[in-house]
Amino acid sequence: MLHTTIKELAFPSLPYGYDALEPYIDAMTMEIHHTKHHKAYYDKFMTAVKGTENENFAFGELIQNISKFPAGVRNNGGGFLNHDLFWKIMKKNGGGQPEGDLAKAINDAFGSFEKFRELFNDAAANRFGSGWAWLILDSSKSLKVTSTPNQDSPWMDVSEVKGTPILALDVWEHAYYLKYQNRRPDYINAFWNVVNWEEVDRNWKSAL
Ligand code: MN
Repeated sequence: MLHTTIKELAFPSLPYGYDALEPYIDAMTMEIHHTKHHKAYYDKFMTAVKGTENENFAFGELIQNISKFPAGVRNNGGGFLNHDLFWKIMKKNGGGQPEGDLAKAINDAFGSFEKFRELFNDAAANRFGSGWAWLILDSSKSLKVTSTPNQDSPWMDVSEVKGTPILALDVWEHAYYLKYQNRRPDYINAFWNVVNWEEVDRNWKSAL
């Protein structure tokens, strides 16, 4: 997606049914999240760049130079990009733990899988207001846990901690409020049951 010319970006369908992540993430939340929230980010982003010279850039080029663009492009471009990754790193009957080299890299970086999960949970729970928790590979090829506000991405030049996102968790209220209301920690715990570790592994290997 980052290599795609902006004017050729298409809105992706969900890689599974809206009920695939039940009971951890409910079907109604998934449907509204995908068809309303994600779609609105895409539509508003495309409207903002359509007919400007920016539509001929690669999407990644714009994202990595986002400080030069207005807030609407940053928020909606980020929202479009972040959700595309988020859908893919989840699946029906996901969960468990990473295997092989990724498992070893997580142990080396954080001490153990449990310690990594604790750090990630803290990043997700402590993000004040709306935003995302991330596992990223930074420019020195180290795994790091971080979080961003709003729809900022670790790809963006404005991000405090920059790198390639490997795993993402949306902690906007629209991602969990219908089922979990104010109980963000319950949603964060449930998320681990739907993680698609094969996809996370692919993200990590292509970032290396
Ligand atoms: Mn969202």
